Amino acid sequence: MTDSIDSRHAQSRAGAPGLAGVQGLASAEARAGAQRRAEGPALSRRRFLGVSASLAAGAVVAGDALPAPAQAAGAAVAGGAPRAGPVAAAGPEPRADPPASAEGKALVAITLDLEMARNFPRWEDTHWDYEKGNLNEETKRYAVEAARRVKARGGVIHFFAVGRALEQEKVDWLQDIVRAGHPVGNHTYDHVYVLATKPEEIQYRFQRAPWLIEGKTPAEVIRENIRLTTAALKARLGIEPAGFRTPGGFANGLEGRPDVQRMLLELGFPWVSCKYPAHPYGEPGKEPAPEVLAGIVKAQEAAQPFAYPTGLIDVPMSPISDIGAFRNARWKLARFLEAVRLGVEWAIERRAVFDLLCHPSVMYVMDPEMRAFELVCDLVERARDRAALADLGTIASRVAKAKAGETEEKKDR
Ligand SMILES: [Zn+2]
Repeated sequence: MTDSIDSRHAQSRAGAPGLAGVQGLASAEARAGAQRRAEGPALSRRRFLGVSASLAAGAVVAGDALPAPAQAAGAAVAGGAPRAGPVAAAGPEPRADPPASAEGKALVAITLDLEMARNFPRWEDTHWDYEKGNLNEETKRYAVEAARRVKARGGVIHFFAVGRALEQEKVDWLQDIVRAGHPVGNHTYDHVYVLATKPEEIQYRFQRAPWLIEGKTPAEVIRENIRLTTAALKARLGIEPAGFRTPGGFANGLEGRPDVQRMLLELGFPWVSCKYPAHPYGEPGKEPAPEVLAGIVKAQEAAQPFAYPTGLIDVPMSPISDIGAFRNARWKLARFLEAVRLGVEWAIERRAVFDLLCHPSVMYVMDPEMRAFELVCDLVERARDRAALADLGTIASRVAKAKAGETEEKKDR
């Protein structure tokens, strides 16, 4: 699915003239990426297949823009040395006991990533790539109101914040959100690509200002970017991060990158939200064909929470994200609502998990009435004792519990 994903990115970027991200790209991959973008939607099928063949599986699809090489590189193959996953005691932990009411139910999460997004509010907007934490007033207002509404329906929103947003003068709006009981997780400081192995892949900001990371390896930059966010959450909100979400999502999650899994465990995260399974998008700007919606429903299976051999738990993002629907597929709101409804219904029928990923910076433009969140709350309410709204920590603890059960069983044998 990398091919179609990449073509979407190509398409969306071609739509934004004078893209800043193209500047200063040094590597061959970057140049190839630029070429792909330049070709845009007119990408011939042959060229398209050629490009897709050259790409590794699992591009960045769910979240917002990462440097071009990051999009091409994607996640890797299987692997990962087994290792018990004890976690720093100081770190955030999944709730020991999920609310009894969550047992045997579908768990449905609404998550909002607090960052600005390229192509929003205006299609030609790309400067956010360099200042993703510079949240505008609309974004903050939308986040506050969404939290209020979901809480009124008996749930919480799980937020993930880029650390740089905590440099803003006022964070009282986010303090209020925290006080109301909504968890806020770590989304790195600058929205960095955690699988980067080359400096130019890490983030646009560091392509323009490489002196900021001079002399450091990508792994060091990434680790520091995550650590600083935890420090910022502590300093300005007085909280430990409620989990970690990777900027972008990877079709194979962190498979094949036990180094990154271990780094996250070491930084105090027993669970993360990294995987965004591949799925069809259809033709950008066109109504999704039934096969596209069916493909998105099918992808829910691959979006169920699980543990890596290192012990790290992943609570994947459930397709389709707002970015996927509104930027990549260029859908209208009604189609996004339809896809979300189908995904949530799939999860409710199977007592499974659905983790809606949205960005207030996108949603205030595309869904000002917050119909997506009202829809999710309606579906859960109508399902009565078959479903509950949940945060990702609760979902992760269900996996941890199942894992503990398995271990017990083994001991008994
Ligand atoms: Zn993000």
